[in-house]
Amino acid sequence: MENYSEFNIQYIKGVGEKRARLFNKLGIYSVADLIHFYPRKYQDWNNCETVLSAPENEAVAIKATMITPVKENLIRKGLTLYKCNFSDGQTVIHVTIFNNKYLAKALRTFDEYILYGKIEKSFTNAFMSSPQIEKADTAQGIHPIYSATENLNSKVIAKVVKTALDKFEYFEDTLDNEIRDKYNLCSLDFAIRQIHFPSEEKNIETARRRLIFEELLTLQLGLMKLRDKKETKNNFIINYDFTEEFLTLLPFELTNAQKNAITDCVKDMMSKKTMNRLIQGDVGSGKTAVATAAMFTAIKNGYQCAMMAPTEILASQHFESLSKLFENTEINIALLTGSTKAKEKREIKQALMSGEIDLIVGTHALIQNDVEFFNLALVITDEQHRFGVEQRASLAMKSASPHLMVMSATPIPRTLGLIIYGDLDISILGELPAGRKKIRTDVVDTSYHQRIYKFIKKAVDEGHQAYIVCPLVEESESDLIPATQYAEELSEKYFQGYNLALLHGKMKAKEKDRVMRSFENKETDILVSTTVVEVGVDVPNATIMLIENADRFGLSQLHQLRGRVGRGSEQSYCILVSDNKGESTRERLNIMKKTSDGFKIADYDLKTRGPGDFFGKRQHGLPNLVIADMLEDMETLTECQQCAKDMIKEDENLDKYPLLCNQISDMFRKTDY
Ligand code: ADP
Ligand code: MG
Repeated sequence: MENYSEFNIQYIKGVGEKRARLFNKLGIYSVADLIHFYPRKYQDWNNCETVLSAPENEAVAIKATMITPVKENLIRKGLTLYKCNFSDGQTVIHVTIFNNKYLAKALRTFDEYILYGKIEKSFTNAFMSSPQIEKADTAQGIHPIYSATENLNSKVIAKVVKTALDKFEYFEDTLDNEIRDKYNLCSLDFAIRQIHFPSEEKNIETARRRLIFEELLTLQLGLMKLRDKKETKNNFIINYDFTEEFLTLLPFELTNAQKNAITDCVKDMMSKKTMNRLIQGDVGSGKTAVATAAMFTAIKNGYQCAMMAPTEILASQHFESLSKLFENTEINIALLTGSTKAKEKREIKQALMSGEIDLIVGTHALIQNDVEFFNLALVITDEQHRFGVEQRASLAMKSASPHLMVMSATPIPRTLGLIIYGDLDISILGELPAGRKKIRTDVVDTSYHQRIYKFIKKAVDEGHQAYIVCPLVEESESDLIPATQYAEELSEKYFQGYNLALLHGKMKAKEKDRVMRSFENKETDILVSTTVVEVGVDVPNATIMLIENADRFGLSQLHQLRGRVGRGSEQSYCILVSDNKGESTRERLNIMKKTSDGFKIADYDLKTRGPGDFFGKRQHGLPNLVIADMLEDMETLTECQQCAKDMIKEDENLDKYPLLCNQISDMFRKTDY
C-alpha cells in the first residue's frame, strides 16, 4: 500500500493541481495532513423532523417528497430563482433555490429528499430558502462540516476526504494494543474514519478521545525528548557543597522544603550534567533563600553567578538584601540595570570580564550583547514567567552552558507546569516558613472606606505600613479612581500627618527606586500604587494590603498582591474593595477569603476566566494543537504524561513506535525550536 503520509493530495481523484493549491492554503499538502484536518462540527441528517415538530431558526433535516416540478424564474441577468414544492406528508414546504442550476435540474418529482436548513412557518405552509437537498436514500448520516475557504467549500473538502479514506484501506496504528487497552483508546483507523464520517453520534466522542490523546502524547513525548537533548555536559562542576556555611549567614532556620530544594540544586551542579531547574513556590515561600544558597556554593567554588529580575525595583531589592547577607564575606556583588550610569556600567562590565565581580544582579540590561563574563556558572531568573524563553536562553548564552535556575510563584496547575516548563526539573516549595500567620482577607464595598482608613491609621500608629493598590494610573475608564488623584485625595483628606507615596508604572526607574526605598526604610507609611508592587517586592513590616476595584483583577494577581503582606510574624490583612454586586464576582472574591492556596486559586481562575493569563498573553512557543485543548482536556493530559513517562522508561528511543516518532518530529519542526 502506498504511504499516505507522503501521498500528495494533488493526486487524489477530483483534486488536481489547481484545487491542490487551495488545499495548500489550508496547510494541507499530503493525505496525512488531510485526514488530520478534522471537521469543525457536524450536521445530523439522521434524525429527520417534520415541519410541525421542527424548531424555527435552527438548521434541521426534513425528509420530504417533491410534489411539483421546478419552476425557473429569471430575475435578472445572473440571478435565477428556482421554485418547487415538497411535502413531508402533512405540510407543504415551499422551497426556493438561488442560481443552482445543477441542483434544480437533478430534482425529480415524487422522489424523496432530505432538506437541510432553517425553516420558516406560516399558518398552513412552510418555507425554506436555499436548503441543502440530497436524495433521501444516500443522504442520511452525520455530515461533517469543515472550515471552508472562499473557493473551497465544506462539501468539496468532505468529498475529497471521502475519496482519500476509500483509497487507503487501513491507517496503521501509532500505538500498540497494550497502550490502547490501558487507556481505553480505539484504533487510529477507526478514529480517523469516524471523526470524518461518524456512523453514530457516540463514535465522535470515541474518535475524539483517541485523537486528543494522540496529539497530547506526541506533545509530551516531544517535550521530554527535547529535554534530553538539552541535557548538556556540566562545564562548571561544583566540587564542594558550602550550604552549611551559608546557613550560618542566615538570620532564620530554613524550612524543610527550602533545604530539599537547595539539596536538589547542589546535587545538580555536582552531577555530570548541567542544571535546569525550576523552583516553584507560592508567594512568601522563600525562593530567594534557595537561589542565594545555590549562588553561595557556586561562588565559593570559584565561579560567577548572575541573577535576573523582571523589574528594577525587584533587582535593586535583591541587590540590597544580598549585599547585606554577604556583608562579612569576600563575595563581590554589583547591580546592573537600565538606569545604571554609563561610567559605572563600564566599570561593572570590566569587572565582570575580569572575574572581579562574583555576583551580578540586574534586569534585562544583563543580557545585552556587550556584557561578558569571566566564568559565569549559574544563571538565575526570578519570576520566570515574566521573561520569554529566549531571554532565559540569551543569558545562558553568556557562557558555555551555565547552570540554570528559574524561580516562579505563578501557581500553574502541575499538569500545565509540566508542559510549559517541560524542559526543566522542578523543586516545589510546598510550605511557608514557620510562624507566619494566615492573612485575614475581607471583601467589602466602598461604603467601608472610612472604617478602613481608620484601621490603616491605627496600624501605622503601631509602627506598621500599608499598601493601597488601585488598577490604573490615568483615567481611561470613568468609574475607576486614577491612582494619582486618589493618592492626593487620600493624603489631603484622610491621612494628614502621615507619609504617603505614589508608585506607578509610568514613573522613571530611578524615581520608582527612590519611592520603594523610602517605603523599605519606613520613611513612607502608606504606599499608593498600581500593580507594580505585584511582583516579588518584600517589605515584611507592611501588614495591610488594600485593593481598590478588586473585581478588576484576576484571582492569581490578587493572590500575588496579597502575598506582599504577611511576610513577617505580625497578623496581616488584605481588604478587597468592590462595589460590583454580581453573583460571579462575589463568588470569585470570596474564594480569596476562603483559601490562601495559590494552586487552588489558580485552578479556579483557570476555570472561570479561561486560559488567557497562562497562555494568551504570554508566548510559550509551544507547538499549535489541532484538536486537543490543554485546559479542556486536562484529564487526558494527565494520562498522557503518565503514558509518555512509561514509554520513555521502557525504551528511551521509542524504537517500537516509528510512526509516533515521525509525528513528534513533524509537530516540533513546525515550531521553531
Ligand atoms: P518568595 O518565595 O515570594 O520570593 P521571598 O524569598 O521573598 O519569598 O521570602 C519571603 C520572606 O520570607 C522574606 O522576607 C525572607 O527573608 C523570609 N524568609 C525566607 N525563608 C524563611 C524562613 N525559612 N524562615 C523565616 N523567614 C524566611
Ligand atoms: Mg520572590
